[in-house]
Amino acid sequence: MIQLNSVVKKYGESLAVDNISLHIPRGEVHGIIGQSGAGKSTLLRLINLLEIPSSGEVVVNGEVLTRLTSKQLREARKKIGMIFQQFHLVGNKTVLGNVLAALQLARYPKRQQVSRAMECLAFVGLEDYRDRYPAELSGGQKQRVAIARALSTSPEVLLCDEPTSSLDPNTTAEILRVLEDVNKRLGVTIVLVSHEMDVVKSICTSVTVLDAGRVYQSMPTTPKGIPA
Ligand code: ADP
Ligand code: ADP
Repeated sequence: MIQLNSVVKKYGESLAVDNISLHIPRGEVHGIIGQSGAGKSTLLRLINLLEIPSSGEVVVNGEVLTRLTSKQLREARKKIGMIFQQFHLVGNKTVLGNVLAALQLARYPKRQQVSRAMECLAFVGLEDYRDRYPAELSGGQKQRVAIARALSTSPEVLLCDEPTSSLDPNTTAEILRVLEDVNKRLGVTIVLVSHEMDVVKSICTSVTVLDAGRVYQSMPTTPKGIPA
């Protein structure tokens, strides 16, 4: 599903990602943990090809992303959703408008855009909030909108960059339940970056520990969580 082969990402002289090879099978909830500066965000951005690797290969859904034309890349990106710590909603669009914008960008059939957007908002439990603006929502509600938006184009992979790091513990648990639903009910493979071990322990089926741009350890988690 996701395969990194000897991926390197340099910024000037510094190695943000230092020769990482990684395989994440379909259906996993894969955690990526590590200290600040370990290369977690860079790794996610490489998987979404928001960053181009300095060398090495990124394969998602069987496609070698590093070899695609920009048009092919656009198509491939529809199959990769992403959510962020700070939600990245568009402030002057409503909840519905935020989800519609993603569908428009993806050139989803016009006549089905509203029904598709509402279907995704219903999945995250926010169909009654369609006409609200982001500023009127709690953090947890904003992240639900971001999840609905990311799901709108039916991605096979959802990349989550510190999705609960600006939420309180109760809201964190709520959002993790939504992500679990996305994985179990929709069959979406999830890659979740977090610096919070508890978050990773609670939903991940496997985990990679990064240190200074390298894989320190990569392992499955047991049903009771990560071995000590
Ligand atoms: P993490 O998400 O684990 O905190 P990052 O992937 O953000 O780590 O960063 C890894 C390393 O790459 C850090 O040393 C960071 O300073 C550096 N880095 C990240 N993005 C850039 C950038 N756009 N330009 C220069 N250096 C960067
Ligand atoms: P394009 O190059 O097709 O015009 P971009 O890649 O610049 O589009 O993305 C436009 C907007 O969509 C940005 O706000 C970005 O954060 C968001 N975005 C890009 N890729 C994804 C994705 N896979 N899932 C969710 N949002 C995305």
